[in-house]
Amino acid sequence: MKTTVGQEMKVFLPNNICEQLSRACRIAQQILYQEGIKLTVQGVLIFINPNAQIKIVDPLNELVLDSNQIAQWLLSLKNSSESTSWQQALYKYRIPGYKTSRITHPERFASLKKGICCPNCGSCATKKQFRYTLECHCGHSEAKEKALLRTVCEYGVIRHHIPLKKKNILEFIGEEYSPGYIEALLKKYFVRLKNTYSYENKGVTYDIWFEKQKAYFASMDSRVFWNQK
Ligand SMILES: [Zn+2]
Repeated sequence: MKTTVGQEMKVFLPNNICEQLSRACRIAQQILYQEGIKLTVQGVLIFINPNAQIKIVDPLNELVLDSNQIAQWLLSLKNSSESTSWQQALYKYRIPGYKTSRITHPERFASLKKGICCPNCGSCATKKQFRYTLECHCGHSEAKEKALLRTVCEYGVIRHHIPLKKKNILEFIGEEYSPGYIEALLKKYFVRLKNTYSYENKGVTYDIWFEKQKAYFASMDSRVFWNQK
């Protein structure tokens, strides 16, 4: 396949990306079929470099998007399927524990937005704290323990090459959270490394790290909201 990128540069992509895409679609479709889910998998080819101007020369069956079309396309998907059973089906086939060898350097880390990221609106702004819950300015509430645990894991992914330390976590999530609470959380859910004050960092997200306790965390929100009433 031949594409043009930018003004002048012509690129011959080394591997047939359309074939790679249709292979991924075939595999995903096969999984859904095996799991008894009646959905059709459709491939979409997305170029994420905002500076690239993509012009496909050969005719293609796949939908091709560039970076400024992604948001609109995602919005168009919002109402297309109410069911999430396909996510659970694909989840089983995921390869866990993937780790990159790339390291976030201190300068890059310093420039990142810190705080607890709201799963609803993505804001890292300070949350209103209650005894068991946190409330975002968008109105979304979450169990405090779960939100902090999720954020500790996010920090762990970004700094996957070093163990977890209370001091670093506090700097990342913000000083408004009690050091004692973070300490208790680390002791409760993480493994302390021998003869140190640091904890094991698996460098994976919360949903992978705590996959076995999934049901426990899923019920945590309803339990804390019930206690709050
Ligand atoms: Zn929010």
